[in-house]
Amino acid sequence: MAGIYIHIPFCIQKCGYCDFYSIIRLTDKSDFVACLCKEIIDRKDTLNGEAVKTIYFGGGTPSLLSKQDLTKIVDVLFAHYDLSKLEEFTIEVNPDDINMSYLTDLRELGINRLSMGIQSFNNKILTFMNRRHNAAEALQAVELSKRSGFDNVSIDLIYGIPNMSLQEWESSIDTALGMGVQHISAYHLTFEPGTVFYKNLKKNILKEVDDSVSVEQHALLIHKLKEKGFIDYEISNFCQPGFESKHNSSYWNGSNYLGFGPSAHSYSAPSRRWNISDLKEYMKKVQEEECYFEFEILSEKDKYNEAIMLGLRTNKGVELNVINQMKDEFILFFNEIMKKNIKLKTTFEQDGYLKVCFDQKILTDQIITDFFIA
Ligand code: SF4
Repeated sequence: MAGIYIHIPFCIQKCGYCDFYSIIRLTDKSDFVACLCKEIIDRKDTLNGEAVKTIYFGGGTPSLLSKQDLTKIVDVLFAHYDLSKLEEFTIEVNPDDINMSYLTDLRELGINRLSMGIQSFNNKILTFMNRRHNAAEALQAVELSKRSGFDNVSIDLIYGIPNMSLQEWESSIDTALGMGVQHISAYHLTFEPGTVFYKNLKKNILKEVDDSVSVEQHALLIHKLKEKGFIDYEISNFCQPGFESKHNSSYWNGSNYLGFGPSAHSYSAPSRRWNISDLKEYMKKVQEEECYFEFEILSEKDKYNEAIMLGLRTNKGVELNVINQMKDEFILFFNEIMKKNIKLKTTFEQDGYLKVCFDQKILTDQIITDFFIA
């Protein structure tokens, strides 16, 4: 079954670390929704009748859309796609956008999972990251979500932030665990080109944390979450049993997905396409029925690298059978690197899968790079 991703490209202000495509002009919202609906309808035959298992509204800030706008999009999806087997319907929300009435609206639309961009429960750190909510609003938002009937709530946290102490990080984790959420996505801060943080890094206004700090904060995260029964099912994703994100899991296991809206990606083996990251151009081209996306067919090497990257990120690992059906030169290379990594105790083999060792998970990106074919 397939997944559908919808990108809502609006934010009220830009967070210092964020490189997702969004604009801080909200005047185009209605026109955007009309174009988005046109794209959804124009591509209705792409899935060839394949049923949709998950829908994910991401951004940007989907919670800036009104119930009326969300209803228009959901109605178009139901009218043109097979949603009879829909299992998971997620929307990303900012804590300060939601209230009881909005949450009730979301539930009425069939949305059954919330992903909340909280990032920290420390006001000093939230201000530093240019988030628009404070810690009290985050706590209240989770509480309201539970009271409104959502029983599948995910929150995002960030660690590896300059000048954040281990105690401050521990306090954010403890607060998150105390709220009874089902899923936590925890990302190490990265300095992406084009962001304010990246510019400040280049100007020496900001400094990346030392590796020892990253290792310590990651170890604390894993230890605390495991203690509370969370499963580390992907390098940055943790959940109570049974609450893995079905939508994100479909990215990692190679299912088909359709992405609508500017910058959204789609995948259908062996090809991948991505819409242009420019709202004005996207809207103009959708309306005028011109090409608004780029497209590529994955080469054998791309498929190998993708199998490594997606597999080693998850606790399931890379399926050796999949690698063994690839070109001989790839199999030889993989076996050589695997032998080296097993000897170094960074990875291990179990039931036909190669996995990253528990105490080496912080090094996953480096291990993946080691297996990549340039
Ligand atoms: S992190 Fe979310 S709210 Fe902040 S700029 Fe990025 S998309 Fe917008």
